[in-house]
Amino acid sequence: MAEIVIKNLRKDFGDFTAVQESSFTIEDGEFFMLLGPSGCGKTTTLRMIAGLELPTSGEIFLDGEEISQRPPSKRDIAFVFQMFALYPHLNVRKNISYPLASQGMKRRDIKAKVAEVSKILGIEHMLDKPVGGLSGGDRQRVALGRAIVREPKAFMMDEPLGALDAEFREHMSEELRALHDRMGATTVYVTHDQLEAMQMGDKIVVMNNAVVEQFGTPRDIYNKPASVFVADFIGSPSMNFLPFNGTVKSGDTTVQMGQQRIVVPEQLTSAEGELILGIRPENISLSDNGAVKSSVVALEYLGTTQIVVLDSEYGELKARVDAAQPVAVGENVGLEFDSATITLFAKSNGRALRSVLNDGVFPHG
Ligand code: ATP
Repeated sequence: MAEIVIKNLRKDFGDFTAVQESSFTIEDGEFFMLLGPSGCGKTTTLRMIAGLELPTSGEIFLDGEEISQRPPSKRDIAFVFQMFALYPHLNVRKNISYPLASQGMKRRDIKAKVAEVSKILGIEHMLDKPVGGLSGGDRQRVALGRAIVREPKAFMMDEPLGALDAEFREHMSEELRALHDRMGATTVYVTHDQLEAMQMGDKIVVMNNAVVEQFGTPRDIYNKPASVFVADFIGSPSMNFLPFNGTVKSGDTTVQMGQQRIVVPEQLTSAEGELILGIRPENISLSDNGAVKSSVVALEYLGTTQIVVLDSEYGELKARVDAAQPVAVGENVGLEFDSATITLFAKSNGRALRSVLNDGVFPHG
């Protein structure tokens, strides 16, 4: 059992703020992703949870106990580093058993534990090999073995697959997720790769510039982004943003955009002035009746779908349509938006105009 609650966590390095008033909850057994661009404060957050860095203010609770000032050894949390920090002079067995031997566990118990863990990881056959000659993936498995063997309450992983090539990385990420599903231990995983976060995570915290932008399931974050930053960071190609001037009254479910009245999927908070309509490429269809006029400037064929690059009165837009749909560069086409998938943002603060029926999206303005 390991629930981790983060409350108003902050870390200053001198007068630079690396993490600003972060709050989120990691439920017991979750595979939890900390996602964001380089330098946004992911690693600092993870290090504070593990106790490798002390917060400037705020609290961290592990199963209801406040642990933010406790040394790492008193937190029962295992940290898996990006660099596979193995002992090069020891073999696989000794590397895995090291934490148990240093805890003074009996040899017979250690042997049984190492056998169990190496079976889970599929590395039984290499227990007596030196770690120096192992492949990257096997070294990562041994590093995981050393973390798992202690049976900690939670695992902290800082871009553990960062050093692997793309194909192997995908294989290891599937393996890691399967391992987590078998063991069910709470895992916090840092990545800057949105695809990895979406594929592996039960929940995601998206950070930007030391601030938590949004916290939710991959589906919520993709379908109901809380800010322009999140909408842009998640998804490839990213969401289209159409700027316009408008007025929204609290509770409205439609908005006037140029000549058109646009239906939106939920009641909005009031806003006035510069607004941004966000729509994902797969939610734009090309149709003769479409109200937004555009012309096709380029096509990217992707096998089952194609990306159509369009020049419109709102600037460049991208639509993802069936690869079989006939489209030609230079053609004039109308665009239709699936209104159930539209997100409206206020340009002033970049936040979604989401409201009244707020659904757990991080409450920022
Ligand atoms: P990356 O993926 O590049 O590591 P990150 O999101 O994990 O990015 P952090 O490592 O948490 O980012 O760093 C956040 C900011 O805090 C960065 O600007 C970094 O330079 C700064 N920082 C981190 N540790 C220290 C430190 N010990 N002293 C001063 N500044 C630090």
